[in-house]
Amino acid sequence: MRHTVAGQIMLLKERDSNGKKADFIEEIARTSFHTKTLINISRYEDLSLQCPAIVSNFKNQIKSMIKDLLSDLKSTLSERIMILDGAMGTTIRGYGLTEIDARGDRFIENHEDLLNNGDILSLTRPDVIADIHKRFYEAGSDICETNTFSGTVLAQSEFFVEDPRKSGGKKDPEFFDQKVLNNSQLQDLVHELNIQSVKLAKQEADRIANETGRPRYVAGAIGPLTVSLTNVSDPNDTSFRSVTFDQVKQTYRHQIDALLEADCDILMVETIFDSLNAKAALVAIKESGTKAPVIISAAVGRGGETMISAQKVEALWNTFAHIDPLAIGLNCSLGPDLMEPFLRDLGKAATTHISCYPNAGLPNPLAPTGFDLEPRHMHDYIAGFADDGLINLAGGCCGNTPEHIAAIAKSVEGKAPRQIPVLAQAHPLQAS
Ligand SMILES: [Zn+2]
Repeated sequence: MRHTVAGQIMLLKERDSNGKKADFIEEIARTSFHTKTLINISRYEDLSLQCPAIVSNFKNQIKSMIKDLLSDLKSTLSERIMILDGAMGTTIRGYGLTEIDARGDRFIENHEDLLNNGDILSLTRPDVIADIHKRFYEAGSDICETNTFSGTVLAQSEFFVEDPRKSGGKKDPEFFDQKVLNNSQLQDLVHELNIQSVKLAKQEADRIANETGRPRYVAGAIGPLTVSLTNVSDPNDTSFRSVTFDQVKQTYRHQIDALLEADCDILMVETIFDSLNAKAALVAIKESGTKAPVIISAAVGRGGETMISAQKVEALWNTFAHIDPLAIGLNCSLGPDLMEPFLRDLGKAATTHISCYPNAGLPNPLAPTGFDLEPRHMHDYIAGFADDGLINLAGGCCGNTPEHIAAIAKSVEGKAPRQIPVLAQAHPLQAS
């Protein structure tokens, strides 16, 4: 018992009631228990006030143990198929929120509507976001994503900065520099949004980990942007891009720093439509100096290409292989059946774990979730992927509710995860 997560936390609580928490923390900090337990314990904020020296020593130890978090995750992914969560957007829809809910008192005067800005609910309806995380963790998710899919100044500018096109201007690098990237009010808001979103997910992760004795993780969601580095937006000037690579990198770095400050476990660059935008996010992660595990996930079209940049899945792997991600995979866009051939192609190329969280089929306005497939359908598709040894990490994107995730979790129970292939090293060409 002493060596399980639940056991450790139970002991911690016992000691706490005797007022000896600090001594005990010091004791366990010296020994090597599960990293996740240590990270959970490090969040006891009141401890910082009681004994700051111990806490700072402890935090340093945790930093050096991030590597252990990575190896914990790697070993779990090679032992069993881990479970991601479902879709935030479609699950929010189930709460029947209105524009008034999304605005709250704080944004009552905002000139743009906010109902489509799901991320803002972390500030205006945190109860709803926390409840969604709770339901996904209870359904069996090992990892839930933060409500930060659009948590960048660039994405949030759509809701908080006036569109220059309304007054005859254009969205170009100058506009983004002046009105978005150096807009301190927007920066502060987006920073707060990321911090608060991690907090909401962490609270539920920790609570359910403590209850069940099984570690739960929080992945900081880093979504795509409304602007593309690859796409030509002006047919009269094909060299024109509305943003620069450095601006995209800067907007992602701002988000990444906030996610890390709030202590999320994993960084997840997802729903990649444009590999060059994603590359900017990955450069930002690298430059932040973090060693946090990274998951990379692309949305592919019917031809198996990331949609705007048109890279095939093998090229996608080759673009990001040097980062040595914890996992690479596919999500969103297609339902599981259309995604399958590309999952197989990716699996042949990728020498890391494979993640997969498809939409619940194709959009169908008449279906209750807006998507075709029910939990039992997702169960059968994902069970098939597991039987074929294609996946290490499974969940659902648009249209997947907690009930879908419960069915997906059940479908992979006891099934072996994909084994990472050992591929032959390419031999350098030799001139004769
Ligand atoms: Zn999706």
